[in-house]
Amino acid sequence: MCGIFGYVDHGNDGAEKILNGLKTLEYRGYDSWGVAIEKSSKILVEKHVGKIGEAQLKDTAWPTQLGLGHTRWATHGGVTVQNAHPHLSSDGKFAVVHNGIIENFQELKDQLVAQGVVFTSETDTEVFVRLLTENTRSYPPAVAFQKAFSAVQGLNAFVVLSLADNKLYAVRRGSPLVIGKGKDGYYLASDAAALARYASQVFFIEDQQVVELSDNMCRINDLQTGQQVIPNWQLHHFTEEELTKGSYAHFLLKEIHQQPTVLQAILTSLDKQLTNYAQKLPSDAFFVGCGSAFHACLSASYFFPLIAKQLVRALPASEFTTTRELLTSDQFVTFVSQSGETIDVIEHLSFLKDKNVPFGAIVNRLGSTLERTSADKLLLPAGVEQAVLATKSYTAMVAVLFLLAHAKVGTLERGKKLLMETISAIQKVLVPSYEKEYLLPLATKLQSTTQIFVIGRGNSYPVALEAALKLKEVTYIHTEGFAGGELKHGVIALITPDTPCIVFAPDDEEFSAVLSNAQELKSRGAYIIGIGPHSKPVFDSFLPVETHGLLSAVSLAVPIQLLAYHLAVLRGNDPDKPRNLAKSVTVK
Ligand code: GLU
Repeated sequence: MCGIFGYVDHGNDGAEKILNGLKTLEYRGYDSWGVAIEKSSKILVEKHVGKIGEAQLKDTAWPTQLGLGHTRWATHGGVTVQNAHPHLSSDGKFAVVHNGIIENFQELKDQLVAQGVVFTSETDTEVFVRLLTENTRSYPPAVAFQKAFSAVQGLNAFVVLSLADNKLYAVRRGSPLVIGKGKDGYYLASDAAALARYASQVFFIEDQQVVELSDNMCRINDLQTGQQVIPNWQLHHFTEEELTKGSYAHFLLKEIHQQPTVLQAILTSLDKQLTNYAQKLPSDAFFVGCGSAFHACLSASYFFPLIAKQLVRALPASEFTTTRELLTSDQFVTFVSQSGETIDVIEHLSFLKDKNVPFGAIVNRLGSTLERTSADKLLLPAGVEQAVLATKSYTAMVAVLFLLAHAKVGTLERGKKLLMETISAIQKVLVPSYEKEYLLPLATKLQSTTQIFVIGRGNSYPVALEAALKLKEVTYIHTEGFAGGELKHGVIALITPDTPCIVFAPDDEEFSAVLSNAQELKSRGAYIIGIGPHSKPVFDSFLPVETHGLLSAVSLAVPIQLLAYHLAVLRGNDPDKPRNLAKSVTVK
């Protein structure tokens, strides 16, 4: 959610840099955008509602060396040009961009209004801008910035372009920010991927560190200790190839097709990490995540009892607050996250640390807050995931959790064999003939439907939830996933003639029960789409896929990801950037 990009360098392609940076951050999700650039000792601001697309900045002759850009995902105030960032101070000396929510904004705003300060937007961000302006009457920019930050509450990142000293100032609490160091100067972004073109080294800013950047100086101070921080620069690891679609029409399609490679990497590179992590897991373990990561955690709640004879609990991170209160040092929480920046996850880390409750991470992004905060971790080798929908990161999480359950009881090799067979099952789905024969006809049939139901039993239940999530995220068709056994407890009332119902029917002990559920749906007129290795008369349509033990949780997901993609394209939706969604959910 929200992207921040800033630079202070001695290059002469500022306008291009800022647009490129923001475009790389587009995947995070946004509804408006803007830039602020220093030119001839003035700050020029340009803001727009909607997508960046092929936008050119109006004044393309901006060979500026100091600039800021922002993609906004509105939380306070409508999606308007006025509310878009950057926000300019009334004296025109500062431009501010912000990610997050200022929780005490109303209180601060009331105080400022009482002092006669005039507000021109509906955002919480403007409170920070006005505070900063007030502070600069008495303090130099660096101090004014720190004081403004100290006054605001909540999980936030702020970056300020300061004309007074031609610098960028940045600080964060909760929201991600990375500094990049390149041959021409310094850069700032919400995500290291946006720095790939300009910086050869990166430093991930920690909470409460205040950063001051000019083209040849980077100074970092810890707000709490007052000490200067010497950055531990890391080599930047993104390649151009990782950031482009290559020969695919969309990132979503590219990432769906990358799944065999990612799973292969899990197969060959994680043994040691898995064994070490499994040793850390006590008998009382929790798995916590959001969205698709939560569905992967739910899969773990089937893998562990069935493979390791151990009960584990899966919870959505946004609903973990009640549970965390009672945790002790005998328990262990594994947070599962693609970005490692999801605010609903991050907010639990310091709480658990303070209570000495051990926790670890299964995370895709090296350098993310979750990755850096967790002593024990399993790093997913899914690479950069640019489409908003989790596909390769989701199947990677499921595969890793499956292997972890095996590692817990010393049967990793048995688990790996099933993963190898699952990779080859997926490869058979990821071919043009499958698309032509099965997916496109089905997508065409479903193109105008208004609702879809997905059922699964046992190990396939979390996959039904995930399948429904994929379909609703990108097709905007109302789709619900539920447990096959729950049908008769209410949901079946919604089935009318021709309602599409996807039925997960892997080769497992639930096979006949789920076929009975399919039959019950069909008796009410439903149009049954079966997925699994065996075609059955009850299916009106069939997506064949081999399933191998509990890793059906991976192979069943892939045909639905592809179906969701093709439906999105047929319905004219953007598969990479679905409406209202953000990749990295950095506000609560
Ligand atoms: N709360 C701010 C706003 O609504 C920032 C939102 C964001 O993180 O993009 O403008």
